[in-house]
Amino acid sequence: MPISGKLFINGAWVQGEGGTYHASNPATKSEIEPAMSMASSEQVDAAIKAAELAAPAFRNSSLQKRAEFLRTCADEIMALGDELLERVTAETGYPRARGEMERGRTCNQLRLFADTIETGDYLDARIDTAMPDRQPLPRPDLRHLNQAIGPVVVFGASNFPLAFSVAGGDSAAAFAAGCPVLVKGHSSHPGTSELVAHAVATAVEKCGLPKGIFSLLMGSGSKVGAALVKAPAVKAVGFTGSLAGGMALVEIANARPEPIPVFAEMGSINPVILLPDALANNADGIATGFVGSLTLGTGQFCVNPGLVIAIDDDNLQTFITTASAAVAEVQAGVMLNERICTAYCDGLQEYSSHDGVEVISAGGSAEGQDGYCGQATLMTATADYFLQNTAIHEEVFGPASLIVKCKNKDEILRVVTALKGQLTGTIHCADGELASYTELTDLLSLRVGRIVINGFPTGVEVCHAMVHGGPFPASTDSRFTSVGTSSIKRFIRPVCYQGFPEALLPDALRNANPLGLLRLVNGVKTTDAI
Ligand code: NAP
Repeated sequence: MPISGKLFINGAWVQGEGGTYHASNPATKSEIEPAMSMASSEQVDAAIKAAELAAPAFRNSSLQKRAEFLRTCADEIMALGDELLERVTAETGYPRARGEMERGRTCNQLRLFADTIETGDYLDARIDTAMPDRQPLPRPDLRHLNQAIGPVVVFGASNFPLAFSVAGGDSAAAFAAGCPVLVKGHSSHPGTSELVAHAVATAVEKCGLPKGIFSLLMGSGSKVGAALVKAPAVKAVGFTGSLAGGMALVEIANARPEPIPVFAEMGSINPVILLPDALANNADGIATGFVGSLTLGTGQFCVNPGLVIAIDDDNLQTFITTASAAVAEVQAGVMLNERICTAYCDGLQEYSSHDGVEVISAGGSAEGQDGYCGQATLMTATADYFLQNTAIHEEVFGPASLIVKCKNKDEILRVVTALKGQLTGTIHCADGELASYTELTDLLSLRVGRIVINGFPTGVEVCHAMVHGGPFPASTDSRFTSVGTSSIKRFIRPVCYQGFPEALLPDALRNANPLGLLRLVNGVKTTDAI
């Protein structure tokens, strides 16, 4: 399918009237054809209007219909075949295997949401039947149900061109909930976005859903993105990216006459704590696993392990020696685009400008490479220095990590206490060792969304139990996850129907329980009819 550079608005492919640009191949720094168009403000308005009109019918569509739609999206993405994988590689510099892995993850995610909504559990149907004779006051009939929040704006993420972009996690969760989706595509992978939008558009048509439930708009964040977030019809925003970008959107959303939630996932440094016995048992093995996690995807994961915390002893030295040798073997990797590559180099420069930070190992040089490349880098600092210099608590997005050397357990706890909110926290410990570090898991649980024991944070499973979020600044709302089926909760809100005649109730709340849901009836979970 030839890429046209067009936008998808209200069921039609249209040339954007806000100018054109070319995508760039970060591995070669060359332009990719064809020219891609951007939306004018009138086109943004048209997409918003279409989403607003489509919202009621989509909100009230059956669970089966939406599940069929999600599965059809997955089938249509697979049907794009090699062309999609080739375009992902050209626009991101990711190897084909990464594109295949991400495509699989994206389709599984869509199918998992289909299975999930078919159970109807997320609706959280609750019924408290009327008690007309209750003293001193009668109780009316009250019935609770979650429903779609309304049109959602999804910002495609640069580092997940499939799994967190046009039909990625945010879109899948919003569609599953019954919310129209307005995608502000990431300008790094517009061709990939267009191809996936074709898959979604075909699925909308095949499933006979209202055409306004999906639009793809390209253009700058400050114009197209901001206009979408300001639109009164829009009721929530899903975002993965930088702290500055996420907070700019929060500011816009809060300045609206009707403020709306911005679910922004903005990354973190993901501390990895190495306890002494774990290092004594297996410093080499942990070091090898750590460098694998650090340099995976050229470090361009929000769960990249950017901070190591350990007591400074001989075993830590063994870890450092092995990790340094492994980092030195890593070739400079292609980064997603010029901006991300520049931000990585600037971040490294900022870290190494601190006299208490020592660069102890670097991988293959990025100098003289054809593409926008990042050099893997390992640094150390003492806990004292780290605690006094908050500038080195900030994320450097890429394959860089800082090892903080502590004098004792107390310093480990002080370093962890000084950390801001994180997506993950990891502890390596020997059998029984955590018993003398009980405060550590408690401290971590207050600061992170996911605690990993004897593993590494990269590799975020899409499942029911996953939490990918965390206290600010890891995300803007630590009560929610942006990965896994719980992420649907961002795009629903509870509605209580009081005293409703049976005929006017949604199916999920009717006495006969026609959907066969597990409901909380007068405080008891049951599938029984009333
Ligand atoms: P970004 O700069 O935050 O951009 C993400 C999206 O938000 C883009 O569509 C961008 O639009 C839009 N945007 C940015 N600032 C905006 C603003 N002020 N108003 C409205 N929209 C705005 O993220 P990125 O391009 O993916 O990468 C840049 C940096 O973000 C990286 O170096 C890294 O530090 C961080 N990052 C973090 C994660 C993570 O997982 N948390 C993932 C990727 C990147 P434009 O089209 O105008 O750029």
